[in-house]
Amino acid sequence: MAKNWYPVIDYSKCTGCLSCVEFCPHNVYKHEDGKPAVVNPDNCVEFCKGCQKGACQYDAITYYGDKNK
Ligand code: SF4
Ligand code: SF4
Repeated sequence: MAKNWYPVIDYSKCTGCLSCVEFCPHNVYKHEDGKPAVVNPDNCVEFCKGCQKGACQYDAITYYGDKNK
């Protein structure tokens, strides 16, 4: 869906709460070794910021393609 838009995790801020993995309904994330991994970036919906706004409380998610970050 969105090759020009997908989440990028700042692992220096990520606590491994895994809210983003549970939040996203498009299987963009996968749980790997206690941290989220972006395994299907093409599944991310362009301009969606659901996981940043709705899941991550630690400011660890930004988006490749986001010019406003
Ligand atoms: S931005 Fe939306 S579609 Fe993309 S990973 Fe987050 S919740 Fe899923
Ligand atoms: S919601 Fe944020 S802090 Fe929690 S696992 Fe995802 S990126 Fe890390």
